[in-house]
Amino acid sequence: MSRSETLFASAQNRIPGGVNSPVRAFRSVGGTPLFFKHAEGAYVTDEDDKRYVDYVGSWGPMILGHGHPEVLDAVRNQLQHGLSYGAPTAMETEMAELVCSLVPSMQMMRMVSSGTEATMSAIRLARGYTGRDSIIKFEGCYHGHSDSLLVKAGSGALTQGVPSSAGVPAAFAKHTLTLPFNDLAAVEQMLAERGSDVACIIVEPVAGNMNCVPPAPGYLEGLRQECDKHGVVLIFDEVMTGFRVALGGAQAHYGVTPDLTTFGKIIGGGMPVGCFGGKRAIMERIAPLGPVYQAGTLSGNPLAMAAGLTTLKLINRPGFHEELTAYTSRMLQGLKERAEAAGIPFVTTQVGGMFGLYFSEAGNIVTFDDVMASDVERFKRFFHLMLEGGVYLAPSAFEAGFTSIAHGDKELQITFDAAERAFAQLK
Ligand code: PLP
Repeated sequence: MSRSETLFASAQNRIPGGVNSPVRAFRSVGGTPLFFKHAEGAYVTDEDDKRYVDYVGSWGPMILGHGHPEVLDAVRNQLQHGLSYGAPTAMETEMAELVCSLVPSMQMMRMVSSGTEATMSAIRLARGYTGRDSIIKFEGCYHGHSDSLLVKAGSGALTQGVPSSAGVPAAFAKHTLTLPFNDLAAVEQMLAERGSDVACIIVEPVAGNMNCVPPAPGYLEGLRQECDKHGVVLIFDEVMTGFRVALGGAQAHYGVTPDLTTFGKIIGGGMPVGCFGGKRAIMERIAPLGPVYQAGTLSGNPLAMAAGLTTLKLINRPGFHEELTAYTSRMLQGLKERAEAAGIPFVTTQVGGMFGLYFSEAGNIVTFDDVMASDVERFKRFFHLMLEGGVYLAPSAFEAGFTSIAHGDKELQITFDAAERAFAQLK
């Protein structure tokens, strides 16, 4: 038995499914989850001392690679001054100034401790600001696990949502309207019928929780126009895309400006952090300035601010995102060539340092249905073959992959060698 197997067996006694977040359990790919004990640069090391090139990056935050020395130093330095004060710090304002300068749509912002809190708070704010109850989200987009957001489409595009988790009251779900992603006509139709009751549209500008699906040309622009037409707050959930697809996030990459934005992952540099912000007139509705309540014991935690701020400063240099994008493109191109040589239908998607892999005959991946039509069984086998070859991909066919600036030629070669063997065996 491997140490991961032993550890997983005992974890399951005390932790539901043996994990503290479901996708870690490998249910989507089968087998035993790897237990990690170390991470450095582009690599993670499991409890059995096997090293893997890491394309998960803790689900996105580790854009600098693991354990960047300057980030670790910043955290060590803060450690000497205490772990948490529950009072304002100079670092929080420095963080706010930096984020607002990198992302101009952010005129004011507030730190929270997770992406879930960020989206939940942004939605409450949009409701408080507009005085409307309904929200629109898109099928296949994930915005954390708050009640209003664990809702899937009912039958027929214009029906109200139904809970996608036990424990979510139908009365909450009925305010969440779920529409297909990348389908502007569905949004136009919904807003034409119910626009005056819709507080906000929340969207992942690049959908990263159904694998990786970029927005269709004109889609984000269309959402902006529809929101303006109906007085609806447009929220870009950039928890995943923020500081990753471009320094200024997806809004900079696509040139579309939301009213509110949520961040997580990279903004915390690997610590538990989220953030929401946007137009001053909306943000001023938050307590203590306004009537929309929102708070957090550990919000703006100094250790987390030290890690996040240092990460943002390090990625804020000319050429960083070009380099990250170039590695990602070379990696995907190499995978495609090897799949093609093996005669395996294979599609990739990419925006900056974020990517998707599909075993699919479809020329292009645009909709949730395109994603669902991909060959998940083949992905499962590929995932395990890549693990054998020393490459750690997201353990699900429905998660985006992430690269870091620590990935280079050596990691590319390991990835290609593993993929060549994997594709040969998949034939
Ligand atoms: N929004 C998006 C787009 C996400 O990808 C995630 C998590 O993966 C969240 C929100 C929730 O963030 P967290 O897991 O930090 O609560």
